[in-house]
Amino acid sequence: MTFPNTPPSAQVWLSPPPHQPGLICRLCGLAPAAPVTFRIHRGYLVAFSFQKIPGPLCRSCGIAVFRASQAQTLARGWWSGLSLFLFAWLTLAANLVARRKVLRMPPSSAPPGYPRPEQGPPIHRRPAAYIAVVPLLFWILMVMGAVQELLGWD
Ligand SMILES: [Zn+2]
Repeated sequence: MTFPNTPPSAQVWLSPPPHQPGLICRLCGLAPAAPVTFRIHRGYLVAFSFQKIPGPLCRSCGIAVFRASQAQTLARGWWSGLSLFLFAWLTLAANLVARRKVLRMPPSSAPPGYPRPEQGPPIHRRPAAYIAVVPLLFWILMVMGAVQELLGWD
């Protein structure tokens, strides 16, 4: 599987650098790496899909995969009923938990000449992530309507 926002250089790294103890990142081959899994959820009106991006991942690749996964879920994760009310939220929360594991690791140390993994732009610089504003406004209006209904306001 190739991940769309994985830097091309990371996809052609065939072997990890030597003498890396413990887990190594499955994308770049550097250590340390954590056994994390990021997820993408997409809703398609009457259907939905899940995608897993399993580790182990180093800090840089973990941040890159987190950013890409969150941006994809924010853009495409809302567009079915169950997605809007459950799966998109669970996916975003699960990715935040995985990101915490990744951020607890020190940056990987690449040997001289070894290409460093790129993290890509942060989520707030990915325009597709702002599509989430539409379902969030819908949510806010629904909650306001429910509160109005409960309180008996007209
Ligand atoms: Zn890596």
